[in-house]
Amino acid sequence: METLNSDAKHGRYDVVIIGGGAGGISVAASLLKRRSSLDIAIIEPSETHYYQPGWTLVGAGIIDVERTQRAMEDVMPKKVTWYRQKARSVAPRRGWVILASGMRLHYRCLVVAVGMVMNWKGVEGLEETLGDHGVTSNYRPGLAAYTCSLITSMNQGRALFTQPTSTIKCAGAPQKAMYMACSNWLSRGVSSGIDVHFHSGQSVLYGVCEFVPALEGYIQHYDINNHLSDALVAVDGPCQRAWFRTQTSTGDREYDVPFDMLHVVPPHSPPWLIQDSGLADAHGWLDVMPETLQHRFFDTIFGIGDICNTDNAKTAAAVRHQAPVVAENVLSRLKERPLSAFYHGYGACPLMVEHGRAMLAEFDYNRKPVPAFPAWLVNGKRASRRAWYIKVHVLPWLYWNGMLKGHEWLVQPEGEPLLRHDMP
Ligand SMILES: Cc1cc2nc3c(=O)[nH]c(=O)nc-3n(C[C@H](O)[C@H](O)[C@H](O)COP(=O)(O)OP(=O)(O)OC[C@H]3O[C@@H](n4cnc5c(N)ncnc54)[C@H](O)[C@@H]3O)c2cc1C
Repeated sequence: METLNSDAKHGRYDVVIIGGGAGGISVAASLLKRRSSLDIAIIEPSETHYYQPGWTLVGAGIIDVERTQRAMEDVMPKKVTWYRQKARSVAPRRGWVILASGMRLHYRCLVVAVGMVMNWKGVEGLEETLGDHGVTSNYRPGLAAYTCSLITSMNQGRALFTQPTSTIKCAGAPQKAMYMACSNWLSRGVSSGIDVHFHSGQSVLYGVCEFVPALEGYIQHYDINNHLSDALVAVDGPCQRAWFRTQTSTGDREYDVPFDMLHVVPPHSPPWLIQDSGLADAHGWLDVMPETLQHRFFDTIFGIGDICNTDNAKTAAAVRHQAPVVAENVLSRLKERPLSAFYHGYGACPLMVEHGRAMLAEFDYNRKPVPAFPAWLVNGKRASRRAWYIKVHVLPWLYWNGMLKGHEWLVQPEGEPLLRHDMP
């Protein structure tokens, strides 16, 4: 780590970043690419950095979990000061962050990159039984291998896959887990003995209508029973029963079903830090302007990634597009110039629908497809081997070697051309 200059020694930084996940590390790297002399602090308690999109690949038995994680020290840009603890609160009017230790860090600009909290307690009985009795989740890195072992050992019975009512990271991931399981059962010739159900708290199969017909085709292909507006509320692991609440025209109804395998995606929520610090919207998410990612009320504060209340797909792909925008706008704010870079809501989800094929769903705030590749190369509305190759080989490489290092490949920031900020 860098030797501290005298301001940094006193806990004063040009930029403080809360969170060293996909957003925090990417924006730090993008800032330093533009202006290497910046004093940046990152507050991050975890010693491990996760490539979360890889957990679906682990659940499908395509890679080992080790390939989805690296020591935080190895991804932390060398020029930043890393505080290995949690941020406890932000005082936006005073321009400082209080750490768990009680230490105070002063910032000229703050970037909030704390991600989402997975609320395992939001489903009664779930936490007690996770990892046992056939109950699993690719949303926990330590459990993705259990998903794989359940899939490969299952020859008959009932398999349930769930999605909550809340916003979640990568809204396609609950279906990816299911399609990869079905693909395995079909290829092993056991699918006719397995009764598969998708229970989603959402009212539609997928939020962008262009991609729905192909997904519905896979629902039919695998003979999946699709239950929409139907959320998991409780689990009894030892008895292998799950309770659901479904919305009907006459009101809510609860019912329970037995299972042999249950893949759960828990409700997600924003960390309390945002609400406690007065930075939240009415639902607890960081209240930012959708295009500049600047806080709606505090102009020295910016957001990146899953914590923002923007209506994009909560994905690492979105972060890849947001990082240069936030870096540009932070530097403009430090120089008290108008903000010049704009994010138009790009998010992407490579939907793995069968072993060897995926659909590359890419879309913006208007829920309109914004493909990065011409249709003759990769048509996002159809499953293809190229999209699978991109998901399994290209995107992980791009993550570790591109976005975490400030290389803004495959990113076309919209709005005015990017400025150089290496002048004083
Ligand atoms: C199963 C799964 C599959 C996915 N699939 C895809 C996919 O195919 N494609 C895709 O693009 N995206 C996918 N994603 C989503 C993607 O991983 C996230 O959108 C991305 O990681 C968001 O980055 P972030 O920086 O906002 O949050 P994170 O990467 O979650 O980082 C948040 C960081 O903040 C830290 N933090 C939290 N609170 C504090 C605090 N108080 N003080 C200091 N630090 C704090 C945490 O320790 C963490 O390191 C998937 C996610 C999951 C779980």
